[in-house]
Amino acid sequence: MEWKYRCIECGKSYEISPDIMLCPGCKKKYDPKKPLRGILEVVGKTGELSAGRDLSAGPDTVDFVHRFLPVEREYFPSVPVGNTPIWRPMRLRKKTGFENLYLKDDTLNPTGSLKDRASFLVSAFARKFHIQDVVVASTGNAASSMAGIGAAAGLNIRIFIPSSAPKAKMVQALQYGADVTLVDGTYDTAFDMSIEFTDRHGGLNRNTAFNPMTIEGKKTAALEIFAQLNRMPDYVFVPAGDGVILSGVYKGFKDIIGSGPAEEMPVIYAVQAEGSQAICRALRDGDFGEPERSSTIADSIAVEVPRGGYYALSSLKKYSGRCVTVSDDEILKAQHELASESGLFAEPSSSAAFAGFKKVKAGLSEESVVVLLITGSGLKDIDAAMKGIDIPQH
Ligand SMILES: *Cc1c(COP(=O)(O)O)cnc(C)c1O
Repeated sequence: MEWKYRCIECGKSYEISPDIMLCPGCKKKYDPKKPLRGILEVVGKTGELSAGRDLSAGPDTVDFVHRFLPVEREYFPSVPVGNTPIWRPMRLRKKTGFENLYLKDDTLNPTGSLKDRASFLVSAFARKFHIQDVVVASTGNAASSMAGIGAAAGLNIRIFIPSSAPKAKMVQALQYGADVTLVDGTYDTAFDMSIEFTDRHGGLNRNTAFNPMTIEGKKTAALEIFAQLNRMPDYVFVPAGDGVILSGVYKGFKDIIGSGPAEEMPVIYAVQAEGSQAICRALRDGDFGEPERSSTIADSIAVEVPRGGYYALSSLKKYSGRCVTVSDDEILKAQHELASESGLFAEPSSSAAFAGFKKVKAGLSEESVVVLLITGSGLKDIDAAMKGIDIPQH
């Protein structure tokens, strides 16, 4: 069986092509105040890929991951995305009492965030279909990521980013040579402007959730966690804004289960900021309601309408996932604690994953294998990080 797209709502299948992003039938149900409708999921070969694989031989993580991807290796840009280390933070283990606590360190991607996983697959996809122009809206990291990975791939990148985005992320995008449009509004406005742009001028739109390759690229984080631990973790803490990393993590574990080497889905915690918790609210209420204004220091998870909401919500429901919210104060404390107790300096969104873990850990068994997904580097938002420490006076 070849790779195909399948609509997560109506189940219809489509050939993979750059001419289709959302299910043509279901996307008509779109309400701008709700998540995207008709998200397409990649299905296909995974069932035959690694059935019966003997992981005890010591898996080649990169090879394992590549076999689950729907774009051939010959199109991959020459930039080392993914295969990030998984840390065994001894001091943090001792302090928390969790002897099997791990940090999946995606700050070590080329542009400093997990977004590179999506940008990498989107770039490969663009090259396969001879597309030169890629457009993306972003709160910051998707922009700097697409710009950087696009530079390695030789693509032209156009970016729509709120003027309030952390400076480092904008500067990165410009250094990588992208065309940057600063939007006088929120990420949600930037998102709409970018779609309008590709509708009018063409090019490939990399918007998260909208482009099926974004979930598919992000799933590699889960594939690696499994290969590196040589087992499924018990719990994974994932910071969630649009819910696409969350969806990707579910997709990766689902592909593994579908191909044989494991049976049980880990319990996944979606961690959101108190001031931006659309997915947690939907899990509580059963569905997405009216959007609420988002406000949090963790810019990467500040989202009013989570674009990948329906995939994230249905996965949380199907696999008994959980949600936890944390305050900005808890995030800043967690950021400093993580950095000073483990040596990993994470941006606020990723620190939220640690804050979420701290909040619920009393209810978990201390023997559990717990993975915190550390999605972005602390250096990307120094202004936020300065709020959680005392700066010496001179
Ligand atoms: C984008 C991002 C997130 C949130 O991912 P979603 O797919 O929007 O839920 C978390 N952390 C970092 C560093 C990010 O860049």
